[in-house]
Amino acid sequence: MLWLAIGYLMLPFDLIPDFIPVLGQLDEVLILPGLIYLALKLTPDEVVAECRASIKNHDNNSEDGKVKMTEIDKLIDGYKRFHDNYFHSDPELFEQLSQGQAPDTLVIACSDSRVDPAIIMDCKPGDLFVVRNVANLVPPYEQGGGYHGVSAALEFGVRALKVKHIIVLGHQYCGGIQALVSGVALEGSEFIQPWVNMAHAAREKVLKTMAAAPRLEQLCACEKESILISLDHLMTFPWIKQSVEKGELKLHGWHFNIEKGILTAYDSSADEFKPVV
Ligand SMILES: [Zn+2]
Repeated sequence: MLWLAIGYLMLPFDLIPDFIPVLGQLDEVLILPGLIYLALKLTPDEVVAECRASIKNHDNNSEDGKVKMTEIDKLIDGYKRFHDNYFHSDPELFEQLSQGQAPDTLVIACSDSRVDPAIIMDCKPGDLFVVRNVANLVPPYEQGGGYHGVSAALEFGVRALKVKHIIVLGHQYCGGIQALVSGVALEGSEFIQPWVNMAHAAREKVLKTMAAAPRLEQLCACEKESILISLDHLMTFPWIKQSVEKGELKLHGWHFNIEKGILTAYDSSADEFKPVV
């Protein structure tokens, strides 16, 4: 740390703002830039570059580090494949998308890593305007302050993009719905429980009408019931209600069975979810 302190104090003043963020890293990582600066008298930018490179290198080689770069390397490799194959296979699409987007469909899906709507529906970039959150929930229309992320996305999708369809896409084995039904998200949770409790009516209905059913059946029923609550909440937004009543917008409740790969849609006339194909 002595070398680091000496090196750091010798750095020009205008470098400090760049240098401060890396101080949160391990001390031994920071010794290297100080030594480099003193020994080789590199420019300040070069010192920062060396420092960041040494942190990256340290992460890669960490024996006990919980977060390693290998996960990120996998994503960068994926990006390379996307860029070399997908992107270059359809340059006209991306040229067209660079001018703007005009998706017909807005999807409210779960944040769950297993249920990416674009993959499930085999869509291209530009096809779907997607909102993802825990348990694919839509809050009711509320005015006033607060960070209304879902409402803002709905507003942009419906009023600016003028989507023709909104799909609430739920799924099997949803952790958010499990938290809703069990009443326990995770120890010390600050945000999950109040968020999923927005669909408490689904929990109450299922536990009342299916009290003797196996837990998995209760959960699946609650996943579907919460989709219907979100559809009801969508209709509390005045501009959504208006567009639906004019026939310009259709609402859909869908549920994806991860295990069997089956996509079902809510049929209001039969009051049940039926396979889409
Ligand atoms: Zn989920």
